[in-house]
Amino acid sequence: MGQAQTDQQRRQYLEAMGIQTWSLRQTQLQPQSQTADAIPAAAETVATPSPQAEPVAPVAEQRIDLPTVATDWAELEAEVSVCTRCDLSQHRHQTVFGVGSRNADWLVIGEAPGADEDAQGEPFVGPAGKLLNQMLLAIGLKREQVFIANIVKCRPADDRDPKAAEAAACEVYLKQQIALIQPKLIFALGRVAAQNLLKTDQKVGDMRGQRFEYGDSKIPLVVSYHPAYLLRMPSAKRKAWQDLLSARQIVNNE
Ligand code: URA
Ligand code: SF4
Repeated sequence: MGQAQTDQQRRQYLEAMGIQTWSLRQTQLQPQSQTADAIPAAAETVATPSPQAEPVAPVAEQRIDLPTVATDWAELEAEVSVCTRCDLSQHRHQTVFGVGSRNADWLVIGEAPGADEDAQGEPFVGPAGKLLNQMLLAIGLKREQVFIANIVKCRPADDRDPKAAEAAACEVYLKQQIALIQPKLIFALGRVAAQNLLKTDQKVGDMRGQRFEYGDSKIPLVVSYHPAYLLRMPSAKRKAWQDLLSARQIVNNE
């Protein structure tokens, strides 16, 4: 935990992650009996790996072969900015390349830019992005320390799910980013991210709590709920918190 983060801030992030709710369920307390003082204690409780947690093997040294065209960030970024490989290029205002540390241990992957992202050219800047920031801060990570990207880099005009052909057309860029970053972990947010990355049609609820590996690179991959879903379904935050802790265990080689 960074020195700069005060207890109060940390409490806020944990509250945003529903830690209070979780501790109430665990201890069978009535909600009314929960005090602010109990929250940090609850955080300690949840920070302990659960008995059901997957055994975590050490992260092997990763060698990834660059699959495609661009060989560096500048080239890749230039190529994406004018891409017309799929129909999503027709309605976008701009491409949303991805943001964050290019040496990140964590690569967070969402679905597609929405209206806010299409307007600003940056992923996860709307309400879901604010929750994502809090989720990351709850485990001591600043947004700038991770890299954040999406399955497709252009907004579907009506905010529908990206089509399989669009995800496939855009995958070449994401692969390239993964090869350049060589993250220790991929954190897949929601169904569209998880299913496209793992080439499966399993449900998020079934994929959570497992440790997957991404493609030939075998980068460990953890699936969790999309923050937009968590905004609609706050009761799922408890599980998302467990996913964050599992992911952190993998990154820290614990
Ligand atoms: N939802 C996503 O999946 N990605 C974004 O960038 C914003 C919202
Ligand atoms: Fe190109 Fe990806 Fe945008 Fe489609 S979504 S136009 S493949 S950058």
